[in-house]
Amino acid sequence: MSASANHQVLNAFVRARWLAVTLRSRRSLRAHQDQGLTRWCDHVRESFPHHDPDTLTMSKPALMANFSAYNQERLSADEVRLSLASGRVHPDVSCGTSTGTSGNRGLYVISDAERYQWLGTILAKALPDVWRRRHRVAVILPQNSALYQAGNQSRWLQVQFYDLRDGPEQWADQLVAFAPTALVAPPKVLRWLAENADRQHLKPQRIFSAAETLEAPDRRVIEAAFGRQLGQIYMATEGLLGVSCRHGTLHLTEDFVKFDFEWVTNTLATPIITDFSRRYQLMARYPMNDLLHLQDEPCRCGSPLQAVREVVGRQDDVFWFGTTMVTPDILRNAVLNADPTIDDFRVQQRPDETLLLCLPDSLGDAVRTSALNGLSAALERRGVRVNIVPTRLETDDLFTRKLRRVERLRG
Ligand SMILES: [Zn+2]
Repeated sequence: MSASANHQVLNAFVRARWLAVTLRSRRSLRAHQDQGLTRWCDHVRESFPHHDPDTLTMSKPALMANFSAYNQERLSADEVRLSLASGRVHPDVSCGTSTGTSGNRGLYVISDAERYQWLGTILAKALPDVWRRRHRVAVILPQNSALYQAGNQSRWLQVQFYDLRDGPEQWADQLVAFAPTALVAPPKVLRWLAENADRQHLKPQRIFSAAETLEAPDRRVIEAAFGRQLGQIYMATEGLLGVSCRHGTLHLTEDFVKFDFEWVTNTLATPIITDFSRRYQLMARYPMNDLLHLQDEPCRCGSPLQAVREVVGRQDDVFWFGTTMVTPDILRNAVLNADPTIDDFRVQQRPDETLLLCLPDSLGDAVRTSALNGLSAALERRGVRVNIVPTRLETDDLFTRKLRRVERLRG
């Protein structure tokens, strides 16, 4: 990483720490957001004269249909796709694609300055002691993540990136040799490490799950194996949306992003984000695909940033039976609560509305039967009677595909 890049990461780090110290009430947070939004509106008027920032509303289909209207250099989606192999549109602008299902992939472009800001902000929120002790941070994500290339060596930090899609046999030994003090990876990878890696030598002090929904069975295995509380970094192609505090509570990054909510049920909401910290690509009143269970009470850490009880899953993976909606948390809990030994499963809805319940062979017949009964009882309580087909769980695509335990299959 160049001296200037180092400097930018450090600047972002200091700024995020300063915000954490100074924004101690909802009121001061709102004032900070209003100020940020005012500056952002000025930028939109100046650099995107075809948009009115006061009324601009985005969506993924609109963004993909007219990509050039939403980035500062008017890059088209086709131009960006041509640069995907190198990950670079210009020497100082990166691009990437989300790991969504094919046909539904999002594209993004981000300037280097913004990536460094992103890295500095994550560090400030996740590892506030990073500059007192030289952390070794290991990040295991699909290579298309914007965090990549954002930093590796510097005086106050070492970051190593490992490409998830290469599979652990490619990088597990290197990872152990690096001896990270902090580890960031999707929950399935952390769990694989918990169950397989040479833990004598892998002793991170801080562990964060990222990029996929964190579920209770994985959390249990990971925390027990490493003897550490598991934190979360909630990030997506669309940006950095949340980081856990030292108490383990996930807080939204309201100091950089304005969150509005669309309520899907009484308890679950979909965030609609306006990222007033980004300039190169616009993200304005953009609905995310995630379902969040927000926490009403403030966190013990005293932060005014909205606390999230759970990122429940994707709105895409809400199951529909006629006009009846069943959210992923209900399906997941129905299976997990059926028997404490269930530590992996899939529930999938096929286009004809029937369900597949996939469980590992290692579970006995009695456990499989109670999972089936638990799932059908939970659905019946919502007036849904449906054919559930029990099948064997295959996990060979664990590292090449995004893990979704509750998934609505497309035709
Ligand atoms: Zn907190």
